[in-house]
Amino acid sequence: MADPSSLIREEVRTIARYNAGLTIDEVRRRHGVEVVAKLGSNENPNGPSASVASVLSAFHELARLYPDPSGRALAAEIARGFAVEDGQVILGNGSEDLIAVICRSVVRPGDTIATLYPSFPLHEDYTALMGGRIDRVVVKADLTIDVDALVAAARRKPRMLLFANPMNPVGSWLTPAELDRVIAAVDQDTLVVVDEAYAEYAAGEDYPSAVDLLRDTPLNWAVLRTFSKAYGLAGLRIGYGIASSAALCSFFDRARTPFNTNAVAQAAALAALAAPGHLGLSVAMALSERDRIGQALLDLGYRVAPSKCNFLFFDAGRDATVLAEALLARGVIVKPWKQPGFETFVRVSIGSPVENDHFLAALAAVSPA
Ligand SMILES: *Cc1c(COP(=O)(O)O)cnc(C)c1O
Repeated sequence: MADPSSLIREEVRTIARYNAGLTIDEVRRRHGVEVVAKLGSNENPNGPSASVASVLSAFHELARLYPDPSGRALAAEIARGFAVEDGQVILGNGSEDLIAVICRSVVRPGDTIATLYPSFPLHEDYTALMGGRIDRVVVKADLTIDVDALVAAARRKPRMLLFANPMNPVGSWLTPAELDRVIAAVDQDTLVVVDEAYAEYAAGEDYPSAVDLLRDTPLNWAVLRTFSKAYGLAGLRIGYGIASSAALCSFFDRARTPFNTNAVAQAAALAALAAPGHLGLSVAMALSERDRIGQALLDLGYRVAPSKCNFLFFDAGRDATVLAEALLARGVIVKPWKQPGFETFVRVSIGSPVENDHFLAALAAVSPA
């Protein structure tokens, strides 16, 4: 068979495949363990609200017909929640789809995109796929965001400033005053994209939604959210973006596939929005468990980053991949970070109390005394 690689664009050949980690079944088979705590992908251990299951009674009809190409019912509900026009909302097949759509829309070969580092890999990968270059703003030694460096990167007028707040994988965040400083440094020719995948966990006095800080500026911007994390719908693939104008959104619409979100996911997301009680319980459990696990990691002698998310990022003090393999053998899936400079770090999701205990017991068993 002919080698296909010469057909493939350089940008595609040179990015790494997304490291999605192992499934529960793979770990069972590979390591012969029965009980697996999947703490590598920041899923909600509570799953979705029970109300989401009601969608399935309409499954037959939902599956038969093409979905609403813009998910108008869901988009309208999201718009209401953010007090924006319906036309400012775009839905994605997960928010990762929207990262790709935005990169396809704005990144030209040779453009610079500024982002935080260590980074959410897809922010870099979709930029690279379009031929863009990354300007990485590395976290400080204490693993907080280097606001001065981020301001300086914004002043260099990148095509796009694209980062997560709070940031993944570290969990640290920009306060309202810090985010305001960054926004004030942005030139009108730069698109600002803030990925708020963990906003529901972070909400509170010292965490701003960028929507509120950006909406009265003259900038072009988009803020991304997802139903995958706090709403517990990771398997259905649905996320959304709020954009500065309907005009910007309609350009993004041209760069997506016409039916990018499926009908079941749209209906499930609407049901999830209608169940704020479940969201509140999921967030409260994640935060109290995060405090407990964070303290336990400190007690074991690990250095742990500050987090406003449903995960913790800690320095294992040794090759994280080796530690992750040892945990896998004990039925625990975590994410060893592989980006240069952070190869000793592990990101662990906050699961159910039972899963978290499973993790702590496994970690204690493989930790140096
Ligand atoms: C999990 C995550 C996403 C992806 O969410 P999906 O909606 O499942 O595609 C996007 N950005 C960040 C920073 C994430 O951690």
